[in-house]
Amino acid sequence: MNVILLGPPGVGKGTAAKKMVEVYGIPQISTGDLLREAVKNKTDLGLKAKKYMDAGELVPDDLVIGLLKERVAKDDCRKGFILDGFPRTIPQAESLDASGIRIDVVVNLHADESVIVERLSGRRDCPKCGAIYHIKNKPPKKPDTCDACQGALITRDDQKEEVIQNRLQVYRKQTEPLIRYYEKKGIQKTVNAVQTIEKVFADIQKAVGQA
Ligand code: AMP
Repeated sequence: MNVILLGPPGVGKGTAAKKMVEVYGIPQISTGDLLREAVKNKTDLGLKAKKYMDAGELVPDDLVIGLLKERVAKDDCRKGFILDGFPRTIPQAESLDASGIRIDVVVNLHADESVIVERLSGRRDCPKCGAIYHIKNKPPKKPDTCDACQGALITRDDQKEEVIQNRLQVYRKQTEPLIRYYEKKGIQKTVNAVQTIEKVFADIQKAVGQA
């Protein structure tokens, strides 16, 4: 089963993908994670991608498409995969089609923008162990300190208020048209992302089951 999770930044694609990994036993492929890894390792691609990511812009299609195809070609994707954060532009979707990578269902996670801004601007990350908190929904026991490793929590550059606004604008302009693109192909299903995690996941399972 090959699935795309579509939706604005902060809608919960990553959380949904992780549950799907558990239940369906297929890998989550997040181009955001792949890019952050490249930035961390200071690869050529990472050095090129960093300035776009810090500004909340999209990394150029050719860089991301290469990275994605390389990942999907790996053995663990033979039974299927969950694309989280790819495609983000029409050319990226066309490149998937052109390379013969079949997509069975596109789950479009929907939430109003005010909800997204609140979710994103309250997020705090632990750079040491990767734990994620939210000042309202999942606060750490001690302010700005990681429960697990006592590391100092940070707000990622791409989660600062002005960058969030830019990411949402980029989403509306470049990514939202994909909803129509997949609707026309008859494989797009919309799921309401403003529900409990359990309910969102139950709706995703229904959407995927109908595929
Ligand atoms: P994410 O973790 O999915 O929100 O991605 C973080 C950042 O990585 C985005 O704001 C973009 O700069 C970049 N990125 C991730 N996926 C893509 C993609 N498919 N196309 C272009 N840029 C991407």
